[in-house]
Amino acid sequence: MAESLVGLVTNDKFEFVRQCEAHDCVLLFHDLSKSHLRRWCSMATCGNRMKVAAFRSRNKP
Ligand SMILES: [Zn+2]
Repeated sequence: MAESLVGLVTNDKFEFVRQCEAHDCVLLFHDLSKSHLRRWCSMATCGNRMKVAAFRSRNKP
């Protein structure tokens, strides 16, 4: 566990380590997507939740 954390913060891809944008999530993730525009630790969980939340707030009366 400690070794993987050290690897995360010391390797050359450190610039792509991000914090998940979901307000109730504190996970860090490694953005290795080509565009580096990834915003969430997981599209299936936080990404989905935040999309639904954004959709709901856009459609408020
Ligand atoms: Zn998250």
